[in-house]
Amino acid sequence: MDFSVSMPSLSALAMQARPMGDAAPWLEKLNPEQREAVETVNGAVLVLAGAGTGKTRVLTARIAYILAQGLARPHEILSVTFTNKAAKEMRHRIEQLIGMGVEGMPWLGTFHSIGTKLLRRHAEYVGLQSNFTILDSDDQLRLMKQLIAAENIDEKRFPPRLLASVIDGWKNRGLTPDKVPSQDAHLYGSGLGITLYKAYQQRLRDLNAVDFGDLLVHPISILQAHPQLLEDYRRRFKFILVDEYQDTNVAQYLWLRLFSGTGGNICCVGDDDQSIYGWRGAEVENILRFERDFPGAKVVRLERNYRSTAHILAAAQHLIGHNAGRLGKELRAEAGGEGEKLQLFSVWDSEEEARSIGEKIEDLQRNGSPLNTIAILVRASFQMREFEDRFVTLGLNYRVVGGPRFYERAEVRDALAYFRLMVQPQDDLAFERIINQPKRGLGDATVKQLHVLARAAGCSLFHIAQQLIETQELKPKQRASMREFVLNFVRWREHLPNMPHTELAQIILEESGYTDMWKQERTPEAQGRLENLKELVRSMEPYGSMQEFLEHVSLVMEVEVGAQQDAVTIMTLHGAKGLEFDSVFLPGWEENLFPHPRALDEKGKAGLEEERRLAYVGITRAKLRAFISFASNRRMHGSWNSTSPSRFIDELPHASVDINEGPFAGRMPRFDAPQAAYSSNFAPNRFQSATPQRFEESPVERYTPQHDRYSASKARQHAYVKTIEGQVLSRSDGPAKSASKATTHAVGARVFHIKFGYGRVTQADGDKLTVEFEKAGDKKVMAGFVEAVV
Ligand code: ATP
Ligand code: MG
Repeated sequence: MDFSVSMPSLSALAMQARPMGDAAPWLEKLNPEQREAVETVNGAVLVLAGAGTGKTRVLTARIAYILAQGLARPHEILSVTFTNKAAKEMRHRIEQLIGMGVEGMPWLGTFHSIGTKLLRRHAEYVGLQSNFTILDSDDQLRLMKQLIAAENIDEKRFPPRLLASVIDGWKNRGLTPDKVPSQDAHLYGSGLGITLYKAYQQRLRDLNAVDFGDLLVHPISILQAHPQLLEDYRRRFKFILVDEYQDTNVAQYLWLRLFSGTGGNICCVGDDDQSIYGWRGAEVENILRFERDFPGAKVVRLERNYRSTAHILAAAQHLIGHNAGRLGKELRAEAGGEGEKLQLFSVWDSEEEARSIGEKIEDLQRNGSPLNTIAILVRASFQMREFEDRFVTLGLNYRVVGGPRFYERAEVRDALAYFRLMVQPQDDLAFERIINQPKRGLGDATVKQLHVLARAAGCSLFHIAQQLIETQELKPKQRASMREFVLNFVRWREHLPNMPHTELAQIILEESGYTDMWKQERTPEAQGRLENLKELVRSMEPYGSMQEFLEHVSLVMEVEVGAQQDAVTIMTLHGAKGLEFDSVFLPGWEENLFPHPRALDEKGKAGLEEERRLAYVGITRAKLRAFISFASNRRMHGSWNSTSPSRFIDELPHASVDINEGPFAGRMPRFDAPQAAYSSNFAPNRFQSATPQRFEESPVERYTPQHDRYSASKARQHAYVKTIEGQVLSRSDGPAKSASKATTHAVGARVFHIKFGYGRVTQADGDKLTVEFEKAGDKKVMAGFVEAVV
């Protein structure tokens, strides 16, 4: 007899025998509605409630309750969270509640992590082996490019990224290639998309690989095709719990329906006002049709908010009241009285915004708030840069959550690599990064060849490239590309001493074809990258030269904050879902940024409502203090624009908002100087700083290590020293160095060339030789690359 199936474990039985009563810690601190949601363990339960009402707490308490009651063992509970961080947090909270480790909860995680586990177990059903690889989006894209090339499709007209987003869209809807409806044919290349989707899936199978979407779609296909297996899982998962249900997409929904059937014990919690992933395929309708899908479901509404003060809650509710498409609910604040009003302040530009927020954070810190309780939530990732720069100057710890820091973003690193290589031709790492970015037909094989030659000659890749364009070692097509690449750099370097460095940066990004590469992608993601590139160029303005700017970047990159350290959190509004902080800063509430124009362009009113929900999510992250700011000028799309405050600001209630006079607000004259004349060095606000010791700072002083009065730690001093040591910008990499290696070979000498083999010199012109090779025929080669053979 198999006891493991039908009998609860001894420990569970012993715990069940323990007197429960009101003393059970997981039921303490729950209000009656929450408690009802926790204790209703048979059938379907939907907790539909606003932000901060304890939905996540209900889920945690419910798991503790189920385990303690012995209703299921840890591995019989399927619990889905939205992020890995949330899963970790939930695990931790359950451990605290029940006072023991829950390592045995293998099915607590995100849809993707659980999908991976399922697929590893049953990979053979979809033609994979269980050790399949999960491709990241770069690999995915590379694969699509190959397929597009194989079909002879013009990559420029039908960009691979567009195909990637179309296929992702299908996967979000749970559609395998055979199920894609024919009316979707227009989405990519008049039906070619569907053909390519098939080819792509086949190719993945050949590689024993999956992409993120497959982690949802494959398990669905497997369970649909194998009823017995499905039955086993239905029996196994005695309880299913889902957080942030409003943001599930169709595939995730299908997945849950499969596991629960119609009679399963499923408990979903969500808030229609916080549905913010519509653009990624989430369907808020999933929540609205819950009662239809699960007849007899119990719907629990929670109306007490335990997170925020009354003013913060009132502001958030008033704002979201402007949305038409909502179920509507009232929230009462239970958390310690009225509290402070939401603080609204206006600034001159984003630099002042960062400065002002930096000062407010220092004030909070002085008054005893740990930095860990403070967050800055931005609408677009490019906004982060200004804060990162400012905080490094102030020596204020920060961490960027849910994405790379600004200067670590792929497109920013690429651009920096162009600038570095221009300033410093020996920078081989920069060279390698961009030689084929955008694609120039100079792939891995060429780079390998350059490496061999550079090692042999003892000089930099760039120097070798410069020599190779004069000779015949490369194929003509590659030589032409390489020539263009090299000559571009030579030309840009000539401009370096005279041209304003921001202008030069702009020219480099354009002439190299780098910005064009992203423009051609035509996807929302590429749009974000273009914004980041513009922000990068903007961020150079305060520096005297390109070199000075690059030094600053290496300094910012040096500052790493450990997970345990006290630090301000910087993240996007999307990433902040479900989290809470004592103090929340919400910068950049301006039209054209928030609401984000893309959302409005693509989805009109529905897009606007989703943006408003995002604003609601932002405000409701705050427990004690919320600060909203907007700038009158912002550099967007390469030029200064006067901006107007976000429409969301006027949708806040007067009674709960304090206009924050602040050190800068309201004192700025309008500055309508022509763009070219405008330099942040001369912006009037520079001379209006509130804090006396910063009054006379000049921009250069502020960013030059020697003058940094705020440099806090040894680590940072070390970083400065390192930067200065590494500054060999003026050393020339050239003939002197390679001449020592180059050998002259007399006409008639027998030589060996690393690529062409043996031959005899027929002509010598300085360090350029003509050699008649035994196999390769007549070639022009560099003297440094051939060895004399005796
Ligand atoms: P969101 O919609 O933002 O995800 P939520 O509804 O999931 O919010 P929780 O994060 O579970 O809300 O709870 C918000 C805060 O209120 C947490 O700090 C939680 O500990 C606290 N809280 C929840 N319920 C109670 C309660 N009954 N008594 C005291 N505090 C509570
Ligand atoms: Mg929550």
